[in-house]
Amino acid sequence: MIQDKTGDDLDSINMKEGKELSFGFTYNEDQLALQRTVRKFAENEIVPVRHDYDESEEFPWPEVKKMHELGIFCMNAPEKYNGMTFGNVTLCMVCEEICKACLGIGITPLVNMLASEPVLYGGNEEQWDWWYPRICDEGKLAAYAVTEPGAGSDVAGVSTTVKKDGDYYILNGTKCFITNGRHASQLCVLATHDKSKGNRAQSFFMVDTSTEGVSFGKSEHKMGMRCSETSEVIFDNVKVHKKFLIGAEGDGFKLAMKSFNSSRPFIASASVGVASGAFEFARDYAKERKAFGKPIASFQAIQFILADMAMEIEASRLLWQKAAWLLDEGLMAAELSAICKCYAADMAMKVTTDAVQILGGYGFCRDYPVEKMMRDAKILQIFEGTSQIQRVIIAKDVLS
Ligand SMILES: Cc1cc2nc3c(=O)[nH]c(=O)nc-3n(C[C@H](O)[C@H](O)[C@H](O)COP(=O)(O)OP(=O)(O)OC[C@H]3O[C@@H](n4cnc5c(N)ncnc54)[C@H](O)[C@@H]3O)c2cc1C
Repeated sequence: MIQDKTGDDLDSINMKEGKELSFGFTYNEDQLALQRTVRKFAENEIVPVRHDYDESEEFPWPEVKKMHELGIFCMNAPEKYNGMTFGNVTLCMVCEEICKACLGIGITPLVNMLASEPVLYGGNEEQWDWWYPRICDEGKLAAYAVTEPGAGSDVAGVSTTVKKDGDYYILNGTKCFITNGRHASQLCVLATHDKSKGNRAQSFFMVDTSTEGVSFGKSEHKMGMRCSETSEVIFDNVKVHKKFLIGAEGDGFKLAMKSFNSSRPFIASASVGVASGAFEFARDYAKERKAFGKPIASFQAIQFILADMAMEIEASRLLWQKAAWLLDEGLMAAELSAICKCYAADMAMKVTTDAVQILGGYGFCRDYPVEKMMRDAKILQIFEGTSQIQRVIIAKDVLS
C-alpha cells in the first residue's frame, strides 16, 4: 500500500469517469515466483550459450524448445489453450527477464505473441482452435507478416494483394524482415483487396506455411539479434480458405494498430531487459577494474554514468508497467504504448552504449557481452514502429 504524507492511500486513483482503479508497484507472490523461475532459467540456459549463437547465427532451437516447456511460449493466449494467462504486466515481466539474458533468443516467444494479437482480437473460437494449440501444445512458431520491401513504417502502403475466388482468397506478394520467418508453421499476413483504397481495404489472414505457393527468400544477416531468423516470405497464388480471414474484410489495418498498441509494452520490457543486462555487467566491472591505482567505480565520472543508467532503466520499467497495467484494465492506451516503447528503446541504446564506454577497450571486444547488447539494442528503435514513428503518434496525441 502506498501512502502520502497524510496517511491517505495513493494507490487508488480515478483514471476514468466512474471507474475506480488500483495501481500497485510490487509483484505479488505468484509473479515473484515466476520471475525467480524465469531468471534462473535465463541465467542457466541462455546466458552460457548466447555468445556462441551470436557468432554462429544459428537458430537456437534447443533453447526455444525449453522456453516452450517452461510455458512462456505464447503468454497472451486465452486460458483455454494454457497460454499462461497472468496478464500483460506478468507477461512483460517475463519478457524483461528473458531478453536481459539475450534478445536474439528471447525474441522468438515475443513474436509468437505479436503474431497472435490480430487472431486474439479479431479471430473467432474456431480460428483460435486452429491457431493456438499448434503454438501452445505443439511448440510450433508463428510469424507476423506485415512489412514489405516498399512498405515498412507506412503500413497502409502494403501491396500484397488478395482476391476473392469462391470460398477462397488468393494471396500474391512479398513480405520482408519477418521474424521467425522460415521456422514458423503459421503466419498472420496483412494484404490489400485494393491498394487504391488505402488502409480501409486491408485484411489479415492466418496462413499455414506448408500451403502451396508459400516460400521463403533470403534470410538476413544482421547487426544484432543475430541468431533470430529474419526471412523474406513470398506468396505466389496462395489459396487460403475464407475461414482463415481474421475478422471482416477491411479490418486488417485496425487490427494491426490494435496489435501494435498491446505489443509495444512487450518491446519496452524487452528493452529494459537488454539495458539491465548491460548495466549490471558494467557496474560489476567498474567495481573490479582498476585505473590509477583505484577501482574505476571510485571515479565520479563513472559513478554518474552508472547513476544515469539506473535512473533511465527504472523510469522505463515504470512506463512499461503502467502501459501493461492499463492494457490489463482493458484500457487501450495508444499514446502510452508509443511513449513506453520509444522511451525504453532509446534508453536501451544509450545504456548499452554507456556500458561499452565503462568497459573501455574491452567493451569493444567480443569476449565481453556488452558490445553484443549494444548491437542488439539497435533493433529496438526500429521494429514495431521506429522511434520516429512513435514520436509521430505521441505528437499527434499531444496536439489533438
Ligand atoms: C531484424 C528485424 C526484424 C523485423 N521483424 C518484423 C516482423 O516480424 N514482422 C514485420 O512485419 N516486420 C518486421 N520488421 C520490419 C520493421 O518493422 C520495419 O523495418 C520498420 O517498421 C521500419 O520500416 P522500414 O525498414 O521500411 O523503414 P522506413 O519506413 O523506410 O523508414 C526509414 C526511416 O525513415 C523514417 N520515417 C519513415 N516514415 C517517417 C515519418 N512519417 N516521419 C518521420 N520519420 C519517418 C523511419 O523512422 C526510418 O528512420 C523487422 C525488421 C528488422 C530489421
